[in-house]
Amino acid sequence: MGNLSGKIFSVMHYVANKVQRPAVILLYHRVTELSQDPQQLSVSPAHFNDQLAHLKSDYNVLDADQFLYHVQHKKAFPERAVFVTFDDGYADNYHEAMPLLVKHEVPALFYITTSKIDTSYELWWDDLERILLTDGTLPATLQINIDGRLWEYATGTLTAIRETYYALQTILRFCKPAVIEAAMQQLYDWSGKSAMGRASHRLMTWDEVRDIGQSPFATIGCHTHRHPAVGMLTYEEQLAEIGASKEILEAILAAPQVHFSYPFGGRKFLGSKRYYNADSIRACKALGLQLVCANYHGQVHSWSNPFALPRILVRDWPLEVFRQHMEQFFKY
Ligand SMILES: [Zn+2]
Repeated sequence: MGNLSGKIFSVMHYVANKVQRPAVILLYHRVTELSQDPQQLSVSPAHFNDQLAHLKSDYNVLDADQFLYHVQHKKAFPERAVFVTFDDGYADNYHEAMPLLVKHEVPALFYITTSKIDTSYELWWDDLERILLTDGTLPATLQINIDGRLWEYATGTLTAIRETYYALQTILRFCKPAVIEAAMQQLYDWSGKSAMGRASHRLMTWDEVRDIGQSPFATIGCHTHRHPAVGMLTYEEQLAEIGASKEILEAILAAPQVHFSYPFGGRKFLGSKRYYNADSIRACKALGLQLVCANYHGQVHSWSNPFALPRILVRDWPLEVFRQHMEQFFKY
């Protein structure tokens, strides 16, 4: 961001926050220890424990119903209001995050990607990491056909493999589910590795989803069926992807689902590529969803669009770093 636009942005935030106190939505994915975490999406249980203690003592953590109430009724938030959310539905949410949320009495909302729940398969970006960045010998080059276009990558050195991982990850996140599946199949064949995932990267089982849904400190939300960037789909495809996760969760939990978060969810884009668009908002409204989170830096005010709320990604920050970030999140 240029210096001038940066200053204008800060002034806008300053004015908005003077007019009304902001609320902040935090975004987590995993709470566990991993041997490697190339996406930096996991927070260690020790850091998460300290982060929750800090939120409980210094902030006003709202649950999903309270947050929805303020957004729907355009009511100003209480001071230092925070809303905790988790994306994707990893099993560690149940086994490692949930006990700490209960211990600190901090409520959270868990957005579930339904297609890989209760399976031995990993989400595709984890699968890509497993194939390229875990033990095993790989051929020195990779030729892969993605949506009719042939790509060739060097995979003879660790540096080249790591670059290939990031390059494929950037391409695939804007592909349709069938294209991603076809690409992954080529990678299984090329590497000689099976599609079977690691226990450390599995998603919850349906029993675990049901169990978490019954906790007074948890709410369940939808996150599409197969986790595509919905902005790359037609309106009908978006309706089907978002609608499938909603229908499945409603059948499993026997309760209406009103929460949703866009996969990836950023506002940034590459050329014509979008994580979500105006059709996504239209599809969410048509499906009866009420609170929809995106994933771009920002604060929530009573006038914020409830169909594309900003969220702030939390990293594996020790307490002091988390404390400083939280102060910043409420300023800018
Ligand atoms: Zn996600």
